[in-house]
Amino acid sequence: MAVRDLPTRARVVVIGGGVGGASVAYHLAERGETDVVVLERDELTSGSTFHSAGLVGQLRADPTLTRMNMYSVELYRRLQGTDTPPGWTESGGIKVASSPERLQEIRRQISWARTFDLALEEISADQAREMFPLMSTEGVVAGAYLASDGYLDPSQLCYSLANAARALGVRIFTHTRVLGIDTADGRVTSVRTDRGDIECEVVVNCGGMFAAEIARMVGVRVPLVPMSHQYVVTEPMLEDPTVVLPTLRDPDLLVYYRQEVAGLVMGGYERNPAPWTADMTHVDAIPADFNGRLLPEDWDRFEEITDNSQVRVPAMADAGLRKIINGPEAFTPDNEFCLGETEVDGFFVAAGFCAHGIAGAGGIGQVMAAWVLDGDPGMDLWHMDIRRFGRQYRSPSFTLKRTMENYSTYYDIKYPLHERTSGRPLRTSPAYAWHTSHDAIFGEKSGWERVNYYASNASAGDEKLRPQGWPGHHWSPAVGAEHNATRDAAGLFDESSFAKIEVSGDDVVGFLEQVCDNHVAREVGAITYTQMLNHRGGIEADFTVTRVADDTFWIITGTAYGSHDLALLRKRARELSAEVRITDMTGQFATYALWGPRARDILATLTSADLGNEAFPFMTSQELTIGDIPVRALRVTFVGELGWELYVSSEYGAALWQSLMDAGEPKGLVPAGYRAIESMRLEKGYRVWSTDITPETSPYEAGLGFCVKLDKVGGFIGQSALAEQKKAGVSRKLVCLTLDESSRVALGSEPVRFEGTVVGRVTSAGYGYTVKASLAYAYLPIALAAAGTRVDIDLFGDWIGAEVVKQPVFDPAGERVKG
Ligand SMILES: Cc1cc2nc3c(=O)[nH]c(=O)nc-3n(C[C@H](O)[C@H](O)[C@H](O)COP(=O)(O)OP(=O)(O)OC[C@H]3O[C@@H](n4cnc5c(N)ncnc54)[C@H](O)[C@@H]3O)c2cc1C
Repeated sequence: MAVRDLPTRARVVVIGGGVGGASVAYHLAERGETDVVVLERDELTSGSTFHSAGLVGQLRADPTLTRMNMYSVELYRRLQGTDTPPGWTESGGIKVASSPERLQEIRRQISWARTFDLALEEISADQAREMFPLMSTEGVVAGAYLASDGYLDPSQLCYSLANAARALGVRIFTHTRVLGIDTADGRVTSVRTDRGDIECEVVVNCGGMFAAEIARMVGVRVPLVPMSHQYVVTEPMLEDPTVVLPTLRDPDLLVYYRQEVAGLVMGGYERNPAPWTADMTHVDAIPADFNGRLLPEDWDRFEEITDNSQVRVPAMADAGLRKIINGPEAFTPDNEFCLGETEVDGFFVAAGFCAHGIAGAGGIGQVMAAWVLDGDPGMDLWHMDIRRFGRQYRSPSFTLKRTMENYSTYYDIKYPLHERTSGRPLRTSPAYAWHTSHDAIFGEKSGWERVNYYASNASAGDEKLRPQGWPGHHWSPAVGAEHNATRDAAGLFDESSFAKIEVSGDDVVGFLEQVCDNHVAREVGAITYTQMLNHRGGIEADFTVTRVADDTFWIITGTAYGSHDLALLRKRARELSAEVRITDMTGQFATYALWGPRARDILATLTSADLGNEAFPFMTSQELTIGDIPVRALRVTFVGELGWELYVSSEYGAALWQSLMDAGEPKGLVPAGYRAIESMRLEKGYRVWSTDITPETSPYEAGLGFCVKLDKVGGFIGQSALAEQKKAGVSRKLVCLTLDESSRVALGSEPVRFEGTVVGRVTSAGYGYTVKASLAYAYLPIALAAAGTRVDIDLFGDWIGAEVVKQPVFDPAGERVKG
């Protein structure tokens, strides 16, 4: 390509000519956006793509990702019929369980698969060997088979997508290195290359493991680490290479296999992973000339995988090895992709594919094209959204620790409520020392240490309530004890990790009214529960808004959602040209929730303020002093009890916690943790964003219609979509179900069946200690949403009966909250 061919302008510039960039470009063009330029610093497929093993497995823990991978397969089948086919072989895929626990996991996956019509079936060890005759069945308990899994040639896939994109008008420039990206007023304006500059509106960073370096050009952090990932290719060892073998995974042995002509490709996830870094300070810096290259063979580190591979496929012991591929690949701290628009308008990222970029490329291209062209991806991509990472991931060392932990435990069974251990403790509450000295069992969220429960409360609980199977793994009787104590007297919860955002400024009233579905700009002191919606009426965020002054509001949102909600608010402010200041105050304030029927009595011993219903009504806020300490009190609840959340400047935090405990203990107060909150909120039917409510569900469907103020003067984002939905009526509704067997507890994502047909999927679930029932929530077709409807829920292959019940199941009149 001659130098003069580089255009000076394009609407969209895609950086990176691997499968990611090629797929994004193709899908943009397919949607009609053909003013797209792809820039590749070397040749197409010269990054991670060319050395991939090429397996395409569809089922993942995340339903959205599974749907994306299913679309990939559809696309690869289609591309196979073009002039540049990707070498798609629909071989089927087997996963074997070499332990009873793994079989449980497989049964759980089979159950999920039912919710998206994926024909994953359980097979016996002998059936697995029939399909993959080289396999030994020793130690194999059973397995699962998915006929539509397969493999392809990754480089051919890249060329196939690139050719399809070119055919639709996309221009691709190889040997064109991006050196800089310009911005003005917080949005990208042009890309600078070693062959000239291109003005543009949108940049999509598809830089694979180079994506962090590219993002630094605009000051954006993409937390990923190039990790060394290895597989071997054997000499011919198959008797009849014309018989297509399915892919084979044995996660207990950490290995996977696929056919390569008459030999096998065998790879795995080592327990002792190695980051590949050019510079330990940045951990993601890659030499400028690293293209079309591999890393040196590392047999020592691969030894465990090689040994294991001979257990499942004994012929591997005698097979000659043609080559070992050691290639770097971008892994992220939570093993999920980094997708979406960043804090710089028009600067998108699609990278960090964690050795699943070939399986994911089709779906990634599709959602990214929607994100660029429609402003949102059209699906709930929370788990992959770049905005999920808090500021702690700006740290290369923290990113590295988390990435290493995830890689080394990649194939491990993660029981529900499994906690990660690396990089802890990092963010702690002022009461942290108190918690540790009182036997707190901590969980971690967004780097925060949060009390799950106190082991010291276990003796007051009931061991007989331990749920059967997986939900019983990380369970303690303390949870029930803390739940009951809160309902009977009071519980004190440390919620300092809550994300707190202050929004202020001249335009703040108009701005918040525009971005929230509820009427939030009420009198000073008023607290409003609200959602932020997308234009389709889907829920993008869910929080409370407290008016603390005429021109100042506090938004309180979940620990994990702080970065996401901040980014969303700032983006909306730019879109609406609103003169507002949006400040993250999370670390400035500790937050303690005092909830329970005795909350008022306890607080009254520490303050002269009138805490009565008239002077301090539900959903209002005031500044008070508690003992010697100034606080802002919000009369809200997430457990369905009387009480207050107390926001205190962090330096007073330790003293406030101690004062509350001292005053409360004689009145039955117990310190309590997040597990008890979860159980109580399920009884009360309070929704959680990212599970019960998502960008794919509307407030009407979720039973949050009371928040929607359709008649709001000036309107709000999502209003017209909701007005239409209201007129037409919703077709599904979030219902509460009680399971017939109270010791069987759902974990989320299980299929719900009505008269033999799958009609929904569990969003969240748990045990309610007051109502003494196993509870689950699910969206069901409206015809089935009435109380009394009988359904079944699939728990590890057992269909457990359940009934739709009127919600909330606890205190439907809300008397306790207003007590
Ligand atoms: C050993 C191994 C085995 C794997 N096996 C599988 C598998 O079986 N199944 C599966 O699904 N996935 C697998 N993967 C993962 C898969 O290969 C990757 O996820 C995928 O190829 C990544 O594609 P990408 O487009 O994001 O990145 P890349 O292919 O790395 O493309 C990024 C491109 O950006 C270019 N670039 C960087 N900086 C600039 C710049 N400044 N200007 C212009 N261009 C730039 C680079 O040159 C590069 O070509 C494997 C990976 C490895 C390493």
